[in-house]
Amino acid sequence: MNTTQQSNKTYDVIIAGGGPVGLFLACELALAKCTVLVLEKAENSSSPLKEMPFGMRGLSAPSVEAFYRRGMLNQFQIHKQIASPHMTTTAPAKKPQGGGHFAGIPLNSEKIDNSQFTYRLPGSTPNVMFTTMAEVETILTVRAGELGVEVMTGEEITNFSQTDREVIVNTHSSSFTAKWLVGCDGSRSAVRKAGGFDFAGTEPEFTGYSARVDLADGDKLGAGRITTQTGMYLRSQPDYVILQDFDGGTYHASGKPVTLEHLQEVLRRISGTDVTINKLHVATTWTDRARQATTYQNGRVLLAGDAAHIHSPLGGQGLNLGLGDAMNLGWKLAAVLNRNAPDGLLDTYFEERYPVGARVLDWSRAQVEVMKPTPQSMAVKAVIQDLMNTTDGATYFAGRITGVNLRYDLGNDDPLVGRSVPNFQFGNGTTIGDKMHNGKAILLDLSGQDGIKSIAGKFSRNLNYITQDVQDNLGFNAVLIRPDGIVAWAANGEPDLVALEKAATTWFVRD
Ligand SMILES: Cc1cc2nc3c(=O)[nH]c(=O)nc-3n(C[C@H](O)[C@H](O)[C@H](O)COP(=O)(O)OP(=O)(O)OC[C@H]3O[C@@H](n4cnc5c(N)ncnc54)[C@H](O)[C@@H]3O)c2cc1C
Repeated sequence: MNTTQQSNKTYDVIIAGGGPVGLFLACELALAKCTVLVLEKAENSSSPLKEMPFGMRGLSAPSVEAFYRRGMLNQFQIHKQIASPHMTTTAPAKKPQGGGHFAGIPLNSEKIDNSQFTYRLPGSTPNVMFTTMAEVETILTVRAGELGVEVMTGEEITNFSQTDREVIVNTHSSSFTAKWLVGCDGSRSAVRKAGGFDFAGTEPEFTGYSARVDLADGDKLGAGRITTQTGMYLRSQPDYVILQDFDGGTYHASGKPVTLEHLQEVLRRISGTDVTINKLHVATTWTDRARQATTYQNGRVLLAGDAAHIHSPLGGQGLNLGLGDAMNLGWKLAAVLNRNAPDGLLDTYFEERYPVGARVLDWSRAQVEVMKPTPQSMAVKAVIQDLMNTTDGATYFAGRITGVNLRYDLGNDDPLVGRSVPNFQFGNGTTIGDKMHNGKAILLDLSGQDGIKSIAGKFSRNLNYITQDVQDNLGFNAVLIRPDGIVAWAANGEPDLVALEKAATTWFVRD
């Protein structure tokens, strides 16, 4: 007997997976008045693996900005209590610090020349902020509820079928219909597999372990991240160990549980000590497998977050990459649903986000190469360490790690176009970020020209026109800002109104 329940409602979008990326995307779509159903396989999201520091995540500049621009940043509290996820003491820091490393080599913040980050104005959000997976998901779950997103837990998507008008999504016991399906269901994405997406990339070099343990004699271990002849170990706070065992990823692939005996063997071998684990509380494994979907769209099905790309967590970029996908995709898919998208708008999701993902995958591969316990890799690591201690080196690595250098190629040479808009501050203390809470695009007119206002009037359904003095205009007279905060056009001299109207037409439909 078929016991499948069929829902009669047709949603605008079904999102597979209620992780951070799925929830952020759901909020973006709901903000634009789309009906959204999130199907999450877990009954509830609490997991010991979300405890610190497994659950600890570094938000990079674009992610911090995304939360700020949607009015959620001030809800984050954990960053006020911690210094670094890998600090070796549990004492709270006096003040929050930035972090970041490349292949375990810490960024030398003293050497970073912030003046090279031309578009980071005073009053900008932090370049890095620590949080936990649990905090991100809690904030987004509350926000999704406020915006009317339906979230169903305990619903694991098994497969789907699509026509040119809709997608029918099946879970173990039910079936749901939507105009679009977005797979945000993580690295083992059922949507990616059922959708026949090609997932191309490279196989792992190591198995990584993150474990909470009671050590009998933890003082036998060194402090900080230590590379040895057989791998890397890090005692992170008294109770946590992180290991990299260059076994070609075989232990992770075997699916075997991490027992106390196994973890102790790996820890002793890598550390070259006879350290003893008294108790294993919880452990997880991970690898540096690096793969990326070769397209993010197949008909009415899209991918975002870990479903679209996986790589090692070294340097902590996966969550940030996924949140960036969600911020980029949300307004574009909403525009399509609201019959408000110029031709080709949705294609720009893949065109913009695929290269960003590919760069992150290569960044993680480069780190693995440098971290291998071979004399050659150790020699390369020493050279990189020297370079990271120069001003230009530290600034380059900071730009990549924090994401402040992110720029999409929008076919315009203006150095601001394709970048995140500087957080212009108005005389009354508010900022351009404060004006983005409603998810609409903005035409910021700092010249007061009638022509600019009149162009804004032709796109008033999509554009907020703002003309207000700013404290530092960085030489710009007008800036067209997409809903995701990316600059679509800018004038740093006499505004070219023809170019402005052309840019507006590229991204938005006229009234
Ligand atoms: C040890 C470790 C440390 C990390 N540190 C960092 C860091 O510091 N910074 C950083 O940016 N990133 C970090 N990452 C990566 C980051 O955690 C991920 O990139 C991020 O969680 C991806 O979010 P997501 O929403 O795409 O996927 P997930 O967080 O995996 O969420 C997917 C959701 O989909 C659900 N799901 C799965 N299958 C189905 C299905 N068939 N049907 C319905 N629901 C389904 C899952 O239950 C889950 O809730 C780290 C990862 C690890 C392993």
